[in-house]
Amino acid sequence: MLGEFELIARLLVPLARGRRGALGLTDDAALLPPRPGHVLVATKDAMVAGRHFPEGEEPGAVARKLLRVNLSDLAAMGAAPDAYLLVLGLPRSLDEAWLEAFVAALDDDQQHYGVGLLGGDTVGTEGPAFFSLTALGWVPHGSELRRAGARPGDDLYVSGTIGDAAFGLHVAQGKLAPADPADAGHLLGRFRFPEPRLRLGVALRSLARAAMDVSDGLVGDLEKLCRASGVGAELRADLVPLSPPARRAVEAEPDRLAAALTGGDDYELLFAAPPTARAPVAALARELDLPLTRIGAFTAPGEVVVLGATGEPLALSSRSFTHF
Ligand SMILES: [Mg+2]
Repeated sequence: MLGEFELIARLLVPLARGRRGALGLTDDAALLPPRPGHVLVATKDAMVAGRHFPEGEEPGAVARKLLRVNLSDLAAMGAAPDAYLLVLGLPRSLDEAWLEAFVAALDDDQQHYGVGLLGGDTVGTEGPAFFSLTALGWVPHGSELRRAGARPGDDLYVSGTIGDAAFGLHVAQGKLAPADPADAGHLLGRFRFPEPRLRLGVALRSLARAAMDVSDGLVGDLEKLCRASGVGAELRADLVPLSPPARRAVEAEPDRLAAALTGGDDYELLFAAPPTARAPVAALARELDLPLTRIGAFTAPGEVVVLGATGEPLALSSRSFTHF
């Protein structure tokens, strides 16, 4: 195992290159100059081996997911990402090669998403490996997206497809074995490498009344948005967009639809927009080459009701994925 000093100097300092405020990771803290007219958006997520990713997961997948789930929260606020802080909790079992692969993947992703390391901490642990990342971004003052703001009569949209990650976890756990190996690969890939909807979040600043990212399950997260907005919602289960591999999984076992609607890790954006925004939302979907699907509507304050194709209410046994 590398000493902390060598780990920082050799592996982490390169992640801070080009960021003057990081001070080469040699000072007590970093400097982040304000952006005039903007508010700083900050978010933090942690991942623990054996709980949020399998013990044997490859280091690059851990690194990319750690960064991306945080960037997803920035996207949900309409923020453009800027920088991040990182905590590594490392057991002795993780060797130098593991850390090198972790850092190489993080470096690749940080260039892709335009962020850089500002600081953090590295600690040894007798317990499982854990990682925590604080992502920082900027949004023009007053145009941040909040969970509060949806009104009765607003359309309910979701980006991308829902349920892939939940099914990907099932594939990883051996609970789902698609006939086509390409389906298994697609579902696993969506579980391991979520795509933060950053461009969508920025575009929604002027279109959406409320937004959040779907991390704990579509239905449970919709309930959170409704609570924050003081509204109810009707969700049409038959309109929820499924990828072809997820659709095949549901066709093989219809009960799986509930898992798609309540499973976690989608990292798509759920948002409210008035019916007058339908044309601009459709145009945005084409521009981003990303499905933006109307899956229901917001209603007067009340429950989130999940409806089937013929308007019949569906009962879901579990509405959300909980980590504890
Ligand atoms: Mg979130």
